[in-house]
Amino acid sequence: MNKHLRDQLIQRAVDAKKTSYSPYSKFRVGASILTSDGEIFSGCNVENASYGLAICAERNAVFQAAFAGKRKIVAVAVTSDEKAFITPCGACRQVLSEFADGNAEIILVSAAGKTKSVKFKKIFPTPPALEKLKK
Ligand SMILES: [Zn+2]
Repeated sequence: MNKHLRDQLIQRAVDAKKTSYSPYSKFRVGASILTSDGEIFSGCNVENASYGLAICAERNAVFQAAFAGKRKIVAVAVTSDEKAFITPCGACRQVLSEFADGNAEIILVSAAGKTKSVKFKKIFPTPPALEKLKK
């Protein structure tokens, strides 16, 4: 991925964080994903008074891409207000694995804008797959 696209992906995650709806946890998260055709989709976390119904920023972004007909994710950026890097939760890793292979780049972005890239397979080495059932 070239630097311009990478910077754009990161910026979209940072922008998405600003729209976070997190009145209960006050934990704002923004995520963006790059699809194989070069489009970027982003999402924020959205909480609910019934806590379990909240959705993470990453899944929000993935579902928007899927709704737009995209089926291949090549990179993801995720950021929060934390000093440290945050990584996608288990549920988001599972959802990402539907559309991203192990070589997808996961860009972790700290609140200060520091970044760290990891391959998806490093944070989710053995995703359950139902390839035979896919049509
Ligand atoms: Zn999550």
